[in-house]
Amino acid sequence: MGTPPVTVDGFVREFLHELNSNQGVSLSNSSVNDQYMALASTVRNYLMARWLETERLQRENPHKTVGYLSAEYLLGRQLGNDLLSSGLIDIAEEALNQCGIDFAVLRAQEVEPGLGNGGLGRLAACFIDSLATMNVPCIGYGIRYEYGIFRQTFVDGRQVEQPDSWLSLGSPWEFAHPEHGVQVNFGGHTEKTVDENGNEKTTWVPDWNVLGVPYNYMVPGYLNGRVNTLRLWSAQATKAFDLQIFNSGDYADAVRAQTFAENISKVLYPEDSTPQGKELRLQQQYFFVACSLHDFIANQLEEGFDLHKLDERIIFQLNDTHPVIAVPELMRILVDEQGFGFDEAWEVTQKCFAYTCHTLLPEALEVWPVSLLGRLLPRHLELIYQINDAFLEDVRAKFGNDEMRVRRMSIIAEHPERSVRMAYLATVAGSKVNGVAALHSQLLRDKVLPDFNEMWPMKFTNVTNGITPRRFIRLANRSLSTLISDSIGKGWVNDLERLRELEPYAEDAEFRKAFREVKAFNKERLARTLEQRDGIQIDQNHMLDVMVKRLHEYKRQSLKVLHVVTLYNEIISGRLDPADVQGRTVVFGAKAAPGYKMAKDTIHLINKVAEVVNADERVQGKLHVAFPANYNVTLAEKLIPAADLSEQISLAGMEASGTGNMKFALNGALTIGTDDGANVEIREHVGDENFFLFGMTEPEVADLGAKGYNPGSHYEGDERLKGAIDLIASGAFSDGDRRVFEPIVSNWLTSDRFMALADYASYMDAQAKVEASYADEDAWTKSAILNIARSGFFSSDRSMKDYIREIWHTMPVL
Ligand SMILES: *Cc1c(COP(=O)(O)O)cnc(C)c1O
Repeated sequence: MGTPPVTVDGFVREFLHELNSNQGVSLSNSSVNDQYMALASTVRNYLMARWLETERLQRENPHKTVGYLSAEYLLGRQLGNDLLSSGLIDIAEEALNQCGIDFAVLRAQEVEPGLGNGGLGRLAACFIDSLATMNVPCIGYGIRYEYGIFRQTFVDGRQVEQPDSWLSLGSPWEFAHPEHGVQVNFGGHTEKTVDENGNEKTTWVPDWNVLGVPYNYMVPGYLNGRVNTLRLWSAQATKAFDLQIFNSGDYADAVRAQTFAENISKVLYPEDSTPQGKELRLQQQYFFVACSLHDFIANQLEEGFDLHKLDERIIFQLNDTHPVIAVPELMRILVDEQGFGFDEAWEVTQKCFAYTCHTLLPEALEVWPVSLLGRLLPRHLELIYQINDAFLEDVRAKFGNDEMRVRRMSIIAEHPERSVRMAYLATVAGSKVNGVAALHSQLLRDKVLPDFNEMWPMKFTNVTNGITPRRFIRLANRSLSTLISDSIGKGWVNDLERLRELEPYAEDAEFRKAFREVKAFNKERLARTLEQRDGIQIDQNHMLDVMVKRLHEYKRQSLKVLHVVTLYNEIISGRLDPADVQGRTVVFGAKAAPGYKMAKDTIHLINKVAEVVNADERVQGKLHVAFPANYNVTLAEKLIPAADLSEQISLAGMEASGTGNMKFALNGALTIGTDDGANVEIREHVGDENFFLFGMTEPEVADLGAKGYNPGSHYEGDERLKGAIDLIASGAFSDGDRRVFEPIVSNWLTSDRFMALADYASYMDAQAKVEASYADEDAWTKSAILNIARSGFFSSDRSMKDYIREIWHTMPVL
């Protein structure tokens, strides 16, 4: 540790010292992994003093803390971020140079911790970054999955999942604290007793338990000397399990028990936007919130702290419903362990939670069968019933004996199976409920939780999502960052509204030229990356048209495929003269949930279309499709800065916010998008003339759905659409086998739940406008610059200010 290595020489010394003492090698016989580990330790050591200082400050002068409860954190690589935050990035690069080491090679050695599926997990990572940068006390709580989101590969164009063993080469960013392990109980039954004062007391008698071991990660703020903590829990067998080894005499059985315990944090469920109703998933959820609540109450509060005032010290933010079981857990702690009365405990609990909803899809709302919950967490189920009884009494008091309403609002659903509606529990318990973009929050009030909105209109609020400019601009797009800083100074990195000062530069020919050079540089970098990583070649003179996000029907990758196949079909059939076509490379990146057949079929289709299109000389130089496997944060950081066009084409009313859309706009890509999620606000900020809007609005979608949607009529009524679908149906992309994509084709023609066909014509028109605009280089560049200049609102720092003002009422600590 010792003195910070602020000079290049000092950094070299520290680095070599780490290489020798930690890795046990000299520079000359060190591997890239040794060098990466030593560099990581050097940065870590530098941040350590600040981490301990942040902890000391909090201990001596405790402030209200945000307890961010999230089952996912999609962190991305740590090395670059931690160097940037500590102001050491240039020094480190120079120091490694002196050692004859290429910094980029060491950065590439890091396996990103993929402890999340997509947007929701990435949002959590952006938020904790912003809170640290804004000096707000926060502990991020989550699960240290041994295997994160699967590594995607393609075999014959189909997705094949490989385990993500991100820990196999060592994880230099974590600090394990087995001595602070927390016992977590499961199963058993409850017992009622009456104490000497005649009060009924309930005791939970569990029948098995596991140990939660905390792993701490640094969350450094940007150049402010603050380092917050991310605490991820890992499941281990408890001593009780070890004892069984002796008692049972069956060694193999005992080891199996050990494995059973460790399974809880073994793997991230790869479902995004659809919950997995598996018992292990509920175990994971309870496991991490039980550890986290215990940690906060037992370790972060001073001894003897009066828990009636708990809300003065913590606000637990529920990132979707995954951590909602924390609500009855806090009730259990207060009532059973601390002797609170139910009402008294409920009053405290309601002030300590707030809930963020991330969806509008009915199938994405999590429910747990009462039978399962009662078996795994019998005491929690009792408390949920009690919460529900009290709540429904309030409903009756407010609305009279409107039993239909009572049934609609009950936390317990009766059909198709008696279950707990986790979103309702969160809404009843939360001091606030927020959606993640203006449109989404409105729809949440009007369509998902209208009865609750009627009961508590003040509970509902909006916080539009954001992204951290540190990772997604400053780190990912260094050349753009330099251009911006050279023009308006460096202040924008933690004050993103200052990008406004770039507006006049849109009119500056010199600046536009420099901006185009930045794009060209990023395209070249991407081309090199894709060549190395996937053996994919891309034409750097093409318009780069990018659609990267999880594969889901509502996001409508299939609409994008229809566009590609239409272009292809129009050219090869001679209806479109290739000379009139702007060269375009369409890049897809998307993982599908392993059990989601339609999504996996779509991946297969994209790969087969790419194969055929890329091999056809008739479209050479005009149309190219690239689908690099395993889209993740690391690839996003390369792809987004190179993009010209950002595809945000979900059916209106389906995408809660989107954050990919924000990353693209802030890197100077123009959006083609529907009036959905945060697209609405992006368009408002950047201006209609700098955004390609298409498709039905949400009310139009609702109308069409109510009237009865007939996709076949769109197919019959549009020659180009019919041509594209027929070409796919003909087997042109499946070696003549018409069966391969039959499920996709018949879905389009008979159901098309997300109305791709209804928006097709409008989408094609908007793409024609894109093409015309791109031909005017200066006009396009101006729009791109204005997209950057006017998107400062989409910083996650702004999201955090909104949460603080509307929901948390916490203060920065200076
Ligand atoms: C930002 C991000 C997402 C979210 O993208 P959307 O387009 O908002 O769905 C998903 N995955 C990764 C790796 C990201 O960086």
